[in-house]
Amino acid sequence: MNIIKTSSRGALVVLSGPSGSGKDTVIERLKEYNDNFWISVSATSRQPRPGEEDGISYYFKTEDEFKKMIDNDELLEYNYYNGNYYGTPKGKIEKFLKEGTNVILVIDVNGALSIKKKLPEAVFIFLIPPSMKDLIIRLKKRGTESSDKILSRFKEAYKEINEVNKYNYVVINDEIDTAARKVNAIIEAEKCSVERIEELYLNNPEEEMHELLIDDKEFVNDDIKI
Ligand code: 5GP
Repeated sequence: MNIIKTSSRGALVVLSGPSGSGKDTVIERLKEYNDNFWISVSATSRQPRPGEEDGISYYFKTEDEFKKMIDNDELLEYNYYNGNYYGTPKGKIEKFLKEGTNVILVIDVNGALSIKKKLPEAVFIFLIPPSMKDLIIRLKKRGTESSDKILSRFKEAYKEINEVNKYNYVVINDEIDTAARKVNAIIEAEKCSVERIEELYLNNPEEEMHELLIDDKEFVNDDIKI
């Protein structure tokens, strides 16, 4: 029997970072290091970008449909960002956590702060670009938005980065593989958190160590190899 029993629940990981910080790319790479996670698919009222698929990238909704989801209390959190709604469906999150699967929410700072109020046990990771110059280059390279939208995402990034202290961890995304390995290390560390201890068996009379401690002599003379 182990000395401690720890919670088998999956870790709830909230990953934020300004638009263009590379959250999706890092998560994609994370799959090489960790296959025990499920990424929540958000709902949004924004238009799909080329290559984005409904139900995979997002659940694409009209603004009315999104508002209905709010009214029906179907969302764990939501935010209005850059002219569109984004929200996390409650859906399967609890089911996966119970089964021991880690759940990752890729959401903005406002959403993360709402989650922090509701589920403070979640682990909050902020992905940051190496520099603001780097960020604008990445936003432009994406080439899917007007320069107005790019500018407003860039301005939003300044506000978001100012909230970094509200997170538990910050990862600089200067190299995708390194960033993915750091995110994985944080998840692994989270699994070792003492907050997860449910029972300590040291005082259990059946625990072998306890018996050894009661009888010092036996402990010393025992043929335990060190
Ligand atoms: P994008 O339009 O670039 O896909 O996303 C814009 C921002 O919305 C990103 O910072 C992204 O992380 C955030 N976002 C995506 N899904 C959600 C969500 O469910 N809730 C919140 N609050 N933000 C989200």
